[in-house]
Amino acid sequence: MVLTQLSRRGITDERVLDVMRQVKRHEFVEEAFQNRAYEDTPLPIDNGQTISQPFIVARMTELLNVQPTDKVLEIGTGSGYQAAILCMLAGKVYTIERHFALAREARARLEAAGLTNVIVKHGDGTIGWSDQAPFDKILITASAPHLPKTLSNQLKEGGRMIFPMGEGREQVLKVVDKIDGELQTQEMGVVSFVPLIGREGFSDPGSDPRQYMSGRSAVR
Ligand code: SAH
Repeated sequence: MVLTQLSRRGITDERVLDVMRQVKRHEFVEEAFQNRAYEDTPLPIDNGQTISQPFIVARMTELLNVQPTDKVLEIGTGSGYQAAILCMLAGKVYTIERHFALAREARARLEAAGLTNVIVKHGDGTIGWSDQAPFDKILITASAPHLPKTLSNQLKEGGRMIFPMGEGREQVLKVVDKIDGELQTQEMGVVSFVPLIGREGFSDPGSDPRQYMSGRSAVR
């Protein structure tokens, strides 16, 4: 996986390649998909969500440039796989998941993997984690309709925040740096994530049946 899907496609940061070699992706997917854990694809987890493709995890991790002393906030814990990768590189990882069952399962997987520098919280990540702010790095692993302001306020000076932005199946990966209090944004290609749902994200499709229908037909 590391050689064919990551190195050959341009992931060069040795620290990232190293942790991608060490963290066992099969421990973060359902038993039924464990034989496909090292394929070049996202895979389904509970609640209609997905564990990201290894290449995207590596790419976002590389762009985040995580340092051993960094305090990192992840929004969208999902399976916990991306959080595990971050744990291996950062000082401390805070991760938030809106689905209770996913948060609980991810917590168990991270513990089973022996990772102790991570806290998983159930809740709406779009409003961040004010008790623990500010963060050196923030990674959102679901697509946002716009830059979530509360999260950018929780970013340290000199910090970096990465998130997919846009509606529909394809979004643009945004890299935002806070320099002298100003946000500087770069775009890093097209990605495909599930929507970020919350107060500073998209509204919950479950609470509006019309929107749920249109969301489905857009995917078809
Ligand atoms: N990082 C994950 C993949 C994430 S899929 C992994 O490595 O497996 C995106 C996740 O974001 C889903 O689990 C979804 O439930 C969650 N999510 C969407 N909106 C959210 C919000 N406002 N707060 C927290 N989690 C959210």
